[in-house]
Amino acid sequence: MSVSIDELFSKIYQTAGNCGYQIYVVGGYVRDKLLGKEVKDIDFVVVGDAMVFADRLKKDLHLKRIIRYPRFGTFMACYYNYKLEFVNAREESYQQDSRKPVTKQADLLADLSRRDFTINTLAMEISPEKYGRIIDVYNGKKDLKKKIIRTPLEPVHTFSDDPLRMLRAIRFATRLNFSIEKSTYDSIFETRDRLKIISQERITDELTKIIMSPKPSRGFIMLDETGLLDIILPEMTAMKGIEQRKQYHHKDVFYHTLEVLDNVAQKSGSLKLRLAALFHDIGKPRTKRFDEEIGWTFHGHEVVGYRMAGAILKRLKFSTEIIKYVQKIVGLHLRPMALVNEEVTDSAVRRLIFQAGNDLDDLILLCRADITSKNINRVKKFIKNYDNVVKKIHNVEERDRIRNFQPPVDGLEIMKLFNLKEGPLIGKIKKYLEEAILNGNVPNDHDACISLLQEQKEQLLM
Ligand code: ATP
Ligand code: MG
Repeated sequence: MSVSIDELFSKIYQTAGNCGYQIYVVGGYVRDKLLGKEVKDIDFVVVGDAMVFADRLKKDLHLKRIIRYPRFGTFMACYYNYKLEFVNAREESYQQDSRKPVTKQADLLADLSRRDFTINTLAMEISPEKYGRIIDVYNGKKDLKKKIIRTPLEPVHTFSDDPLRMLRAIRFATRLNFSIEKSTYDSIFETRDRLKIISQERITDELTKIIMSPKPSRGFIMLDETGLLDIILPEMTAMKGIEQRKQYHHKDVFYHTLEVLDNVAQKSGSLKLRLAALFHDIGKPRTKRFDEEIGWTFHGHEVVGYRMAGAILKRLKFSTEIIKYVQKIVGLHLRPMALVNEEVTDSAVRRLIFQAGNDLDDLILLCRADITSKNINRVKKFIKNYDNVVKKIHNVEERDRIRNFQPPVDGLEIMKLFNLKEGPLIGKIKKYLEEAILNGNVPNDHDACISLLQEQKEQLLM
């Protein structure tokens, strides 16, 4: 079951009419429609009391649930596959230390003037007489055509009122592949310190949207140029100017990282893998040393990176699941390369499969994305190297099903076998078995493991 957008708008318009209110579609829906995309997320502005309108709409559309924020004069509802958000037409005034404005009811034009960018000030009529007509007070259509992000009013004022808008500007520019008009852009730099009144959750929300854009590097370059990156992620700006060994890379770590991020973004829509790309070399500035023979080295950067990624992601308030995953990938990111050598043992391959578990394919994807050399022969060679590593991995996996390794003999069985009570000894025996399997001393198989334990009984129980 579904309902057409025209039907939806017609119903909503009728309800508004019954309340004696005017209603318009605004913001993202109108912008994206003019860009040729129909989205299901629709924002409306109600010239009237949105809370009264909420009650009527709930009845008329038989809505099961609406979420109200009376203090902000907004409510949200889902209808079929549409996500609807309604807000009172309002004027806003801001205090110095908060992004929460004092609001008062206003008409449509005043409401449009408080919006962040000209392309977001576009409104659309949904009355039967004027259906689909665009209201364009701030030349939003022209800016859409020219692919420009610009504030409708004076930019320093706009950003100072609600500094989150600085990140929104960069987010929209990145996502839509627009550029930010010069005085708007300069004003972000000028106002950047105001970002400190914004909560980390909101900052991270925008950062996530930038990372999830088709070409996130553009966003990070803008964040850097406007000084915002230094505030949000100083660990990233520290990667600037850090040169890599000449024969491998010819860009500094910051730009190399952005290239890797773009490469991953082309292949994967996974936020956590993109974050792993962003932080894979984050330990480099702190581990940089000069070696007379090889030049710059970064020994242990994956270990330092592991720790730094954990601390940064925690500060950004990402979930524990994401933090663990990113740390794991960062910590392991040099390992596939180390398996390239012809003489690599099955046991080394087996260990990586075991440690990476379900994330092994992601790890390999990152490693391939990490090849950013401009030398075609070198790129070809590296790609072939990874093809060989993948072959080795498949080969070992086929033989001993080691991914998602579950020991074939569990603690309970060990306790029975040796007539033992729970305690640290059981853990030690399990570890012994795990090592034996990873080293290839015994197959990953129940009966073989039991025999080994029986054989080694005396030593194990010593
Ligand atoms: P998308 O939904 O794709 O993120 P959107 O433009 O719809 O884009 P929303 O956050 O849904 O963005 O906001 C809806 C509209 O509300 C915006 O188009 C803009 O007009 C206005 N708006 C949202 N946040 C702000 C803000 N911080 N300052 C000023 N206006 C805002
Ligand atoms: Mg929206």
